[in-house]
Amino acid sequence: MATGKLTIDLDAIAANWQALNAKSGDTTETGAVVKADGYGLGAARVARALARAGARRFFVAVAEEGAVLREALGRGPQIYVFGGHMAGDTDMIHDLDLIPMLNSIEQLTRHFEALPGAPFGVQLDTGMNRLGLEPEEWAAVGELALAQHPELLMSHLASADEPDSPQNAEQLRVFRELTDGIGIPRSLAATGGTLLGPEYHFDLTRPGIGLYGGRPFAEAAPVARLSLPVIQTRIVTPGESVGYNATWTAPDERLIATVSAGYADGLLRSLSNTGALFADGTRCPIVGRVSMDLITVDIGGLGYVPASLDILCPDQTVDDVADAAGTIGYEILTSLGGRYVRKSIGGGQP
Ligand SMILES: *Cc1c(COP(=O)(O)O)cnc(C)c1O
Repeated sequence: MATGKLTIDLDAIAANWQALNAKSGDTTETGAVVKADGYGLGAARVARALARAGARRFFVAVAEEGAVLREALGRGPQIYVFGGHMAGDTDMIHDLDLIPMLNSIEQLTRHFEALPGAPFGVQLDTGMNRLGLEPEEWAAVGELALAQHPELLMSHLASADEPDSPQNAEQLRVFRELTDGIGIPRSLAATGGTLLGPEYHFDLTRPGIGLYGGRPFAEAAPVARLSLPVIQTRIVTPGESVGYNATWTAPDERLIATVSAGYADGLLRSLSNTGALFADGTRCPIVGRVSMDLITVDIGGLGYVPASLDILCPDQTVDDVADAAGTIGYEILTSLGGRYVRKSIGGGQP
């Protein structure tokens, strides 16, 4: 078999949720963000493991993801949709008991007309300028929305992964100005905000990336291992080049392994000549271009030919790969391709 093997440690995900839950006080509930198929690791398995760990409120980006999640979780846990109530979503929201976070006056109108009495939340924009009602809009329609008893009022921080950014305190100030004294549950913090301190926690936190082992949750346990099988090895002599456009030339005799995965599997082409794979703790540099289905690696430092090499493992986190690729861990995880054989371990699975 020549496909990579992606192993997802559900116990590590549950432990990360518990560790993030422990960062906030007893009056703050910890939710779980499982959008984008659980950050690429499989929303159904991740959400079931988190439900077993104690999570009761889940968040997805769009109603279609909520429908898949409801199937996995069954009735009971709340499922919130960040994108709100779009035209065409009404049946899904109603039949699968989803809670849209309404983002605009248009969405408020649509929801109240199509599903009177159905649960909803309201997202407020406090400075990110991406989703949510502007303060002026909230001033205009807040009373009307509150009369319908929202489940949750939330906003999202733009710079929570930069604790020193003055934007955090400013968004906190605006959020409090818009919601203090209303008496409806409130949520402001994702992973980064959860780590900023108690004044950011309110009634509910919404961690995503920290559950999956990514920055800014530095204490996170690693969650994913990705092993890529070696298809072939060869010795290249000094002056021979490797890969498309001959971007790497052997300075001396080297042993090159060709592994089965490439940018079609989400291993970004920007890892060419900068990234590395690991075998038993030894770093083996990627040499030459990452191609669509294959990566070439200098395994001369190993002294043996392994059956596979790891690109995600305890020696190399998603953030390490992201740094080498010039991106963020979120993009590495959500790019993980469809060709891998995915397998989960732990998670209280029978
Ligand atoms: C993605 C997202 C989250 C989770 O963010 P992380 O940084 O992954 O913890 C929380 N809230 C909203 C609105 C989001 O879009």
